[in-house]
Amino acid sequence: MSKSMPFDPYKVRDDFPILSRSNRGKPLVYLDNAATSQKPISVINAVSDYYLENNSNVHRGIYELAENAENQYRSSRKEVADWFGTSPDEIIFTRGATEGLNLIAHSFAEPMLKKGDQIILTEMEHHANIVPWQMIAKSTGAEIVVVPVLQDGSLDRERLSMLLNHPRSSLLSICHISNVLGTRNPVKEIVAEAHKNGIKVVIDGAQSVPHLRVNLKDIDCDFFVFSGHKLFAPMGIGVVYAKGELLNDMIPYQGGGDMIDQVSFAGTSYTAGVQRFEAGTPNVCGAIGLGEAIRYLKSIDFPQVDSHEKMLLENTREQLCDIRGLVEHGTVEDKAGVFCFTIEGIHPHDLATLLDAEGIATRTGHHCCQPLMDRLGHTATARASFSIYNTIEDVERFCGSLKRAANILG
Ligand SMILES: *Cc1c(COP(=O)(O)O)cnc(C)c1O
Repeated sequence: MSKSMPFDPYKVRDDFPILSRSNRGKPLVYLDNAATSQKPISVINAVSDYYLENNSNVHRGIYELAENAENQYRSSRKEVADWFGTSPDEIIFTRGATEGLNLIAHSFAEPMLKKGDQIILTEMEHHANIVPWQMIAKSTGAEIVVVPVLQDGSLDRERLSMLLNHPRSSLLSICHISNVLGTRNPVKEIVAEAHKNGIKVVIDGAQSVPHLRVNLKDIDCDFFVFSGHKLFAPMGIGVVYAKGELLNDMIPYQGGGDMIDQVSFAGTSYTAGVQRFEAGTPNVCGAIGLGEAIRYLKSIDFPQVDSHEKMLLENTREQLCDIRGLVEHGTVEDKAGVFCFTIEGIHPHDLATLLDAEGIATRTGHHCCQPLMDRLGHTATARASFSIYNTIEDVERFCGSLKRAANILG
C-alpha cells in the first residue's frame, strides 16, 4: 500500500495470514491487540529467512553468515532510530518494555536517587511501570508518589503539577497511552513542565507506538520504552530510547559478554555506547523482525489509522448503548481504540467465554493494572482493543455476540 492511497483495513488484513484462521470453529475476530499484535507476512518471512539463511552470532564473526547477521542487526537499530526520529546510539535493544523499565530503574535511577527523593507515577500505570520503581525505592529510600486518575480516565493535571513542583521530585514515569482506559497523556506538555523543574521523564510507550507516529526528539523525553510484539514484531524484543547525554551517567546492571572492553580479575572496563547495556547474545532474530515491522509501518498512514480506530470505537459504543448496566471505563474524547467495560452483575470472564465460543478474542482481568482496577472499583474488566486490521464487520460480530452474552448472563 502506498502512502498516497486511502487507508484500507481489508488490504491490511491480507498481510496478516493468521487473521484467516478460525477460533472455536468460527472466523476469528481478533480484538486483543493491546495484549499483543498479530504479525504481517513480511515479518514472519524475515524471521524465517534469518534462520534459513543467516543464523549466526553477532559481534566478531569473520564469515559471511555472521557478517550478514551483524549487518541486519545493525540496520534494524538504524530503522528503529530513524522511525522515532533519533539516533542509533540512543537505542538499546531489550527483551521488551518490562525489561526496558527495569533497565532504566537500575542503570539510571538507582545510582541517582537519594533517600527522600520522589518518583512520580500515575494510577493508570501497568505493573511493569510500577514494580521496578518499588524495587528501586526500597533500595534507595526514595518515595513513590502517585497522580490520581479522574472519573473520565484523564490524569489529575493539577495534582501532577503540584508533584512536579515538589522540591524532592526527581523522576516521572508515565504511560503515553493507557492499556485499559485508552487515555492519551499529553506527554510533550508534561515533559516540558517536568524539565522546567529539573525532573527526568520516562515514557512507557508500549501502547502508543502501534497507534501513533511518535517522534522522540519532538516529545523531548529522557527515556522511552516499548515492546516489539505490540508493534507487529516478534516477542522477546523491545527498545529503550535513552537521551544521549544521559547514557554516560548510566551504570550497566547486567554484566557479561559483548558489553565489555577489557576483562581481568583485577577489574573490567565496559565498552562504549549502547552495547554496554546489552550483555550476552542479543535477540538478533527479534531485532531483525522489529526492523522489518517498522519497514511495514512505513506503508501505513497513521493519521488515517487513528480515525479508522476512532470510528470502530464510536461504532462499538453506538451498538452497545442499549445493554443495561454496561459502563465504559475511560471516556476522554481523544482516546486510543481501546474499549474497556463492565456490565453490572456479570463477571467479565463469563462474557469472554461466550465471546470466545463465537470466534471473538478479547481479554478480561486486571490487565496488569491492579491499582487502576482498585480506582475503578472492580477486580476485573473486559477489554476489546482495535488495530489496523480490524474492520466494521469485526465490530458488528463483537457487538452482536456481546448482546447475546449479556442476555444469557444478565
Ligand atoms: C504491555 C505493556 C507493558 C509491558 O510490556 P511487555 O511486552 O510485557 O514487556 C508495559 N506497559 C504497557 C502500557 C503495556 O501495555
